[in-house]
Amino acid sequence: MNTIHMCDTYGQYLNMKEEIDAAMQEVIKSTHFIKSGKVLEFEEELSEYVNSNVICCGNGTDALQIAFMALGLKPGAEVITTPFTFIATAEVLALLDLKPVFVDVSSDTFNLDVTKVKQAITEKTKVVLPVHLYGQCTNLEPLLNIVEEYNLFLVEDAAQALGTEYIFKEGMQKSAGTIGHVGCTSFFPSKNLGAFGDGGAVFTGDEKLAEIIRSIANHGMKQKYQYERIGVNSRLDSIQAAVLAVKLKYFDRHIKARQFAAAWYDEHFKNIEGIKIPERVSYSTHSFHQYTIQISRRNELQQFLKDNGIPSMVYYPKPIHLQNAYNYLGYKKGDFPVSEKLSETVLSLPMHTELTEEQLAYITKTIKGFFQNKTGNLR
Ligand SMILES: *Cc1c(COP(=O)(O)O)cnc(C)c1O
Repeated sequence: MNTIHMCDTYGQYLNMKEEIDAAMQEVIKSTHFIKSGKVLEFEEELSEYVNSNVICCGNGTDALQIAFMALGLKPGAEVITTPFTFIATAEVLALLDLKPVFVDVSSDTFNLDVTKVKQAITEKTKVVLPVHLYGQCTNLEPLLNIVEEYNLFLVEDAAQALGTEYIFKEGMQKSAGTIGHVGCTSFFPSKNLGAFGDGGAVFTGDEKLAEIIRSIANHGMKQKYQYERIGVNSRLDSIQAAVLAVKLKYFDRHIKARQFAAAWYDEHFKNIEGIKIPERVSYSTHSFHQYTIQISRRNELQQFLKDNGIPSMVYYPKPIHLQNAYNYLGYKKGDFPVSEKLSETVLSLPMHTELTEEQLAYITKTIKGFFQNKTGNLR
């Protein structure tokens, strides 16, 4: 059996090697490394895929920063978001002098508990920023009602959820990241659609906002050497765009491979007392950026897996409100008990497009063995 990886970027590449190599060579020959046709072509293809305007940029963190710059918020404006996410979500707010206001997550979905959002709204609240953690959407319809009622923006951090569909009560579906006013995603190599380096994109259905976002990502430029606002330099480069364009062709197949692995895990874990498998909700598909179980003897299982050659990861071991850099926000331990508990109980298992049945069988057998050894009570 081949080595089991947390994420098998190289194995995936080998299955598309000829096409990817040719696409990269084409860029090198053209010498159009920045903003060549490749980037614009990929933007158009992705735009068709998600059915929204797409503005590519340097990475997912930049995508968030550019999105927030485009909203024209005043310093001190409050943004309601989750403390159980990657640091970038809160970091860009701090950088822009906006104030992250945390609301705890739901223990079933790991996402913002939408029933607690209203009570966090103040005069200064301007944005609600849900994060579609691990690849399943936050419950957005209630949030859409709230942002409309209070005249707020809804910005989606869809860095982990490209390829996920939000399902409205009436049956209509929209791509994650295209439901709010703005959405952001990342092409970090291990993300659902991963480049061979950094990359990101901003989505918006609002043409005017799209124009502003495009300008901000390009130094605030309107026409050549005419600057109408202060911007940043954040671009996807052409080689990354070429790689992403090839991978986009196989993207649906890749999401299905993730879902296959997740279904395998589900099937083998559902009867193990002590493992809580990831909840599925009616309002979203799941692209399984991560397959994340909850287990009280987390660290013990992680060590056991390691001893048996199986990698696993903890996303995330410390919620943001307890990180030193964010002490200034004034939160303390106990403020968000669900996030704090999850940080001690979540474990993400190997999840990628190249997992074989042999590997999946080995992983699930090993985990069953852990429970058998420890409790003598395998069911
Ligand atoms: C990966 C990620 C980001 C940032 O993306 P980068 O491309 O690494 O800058 C932001 N938010 C979440 C939830 C992420 O997982």
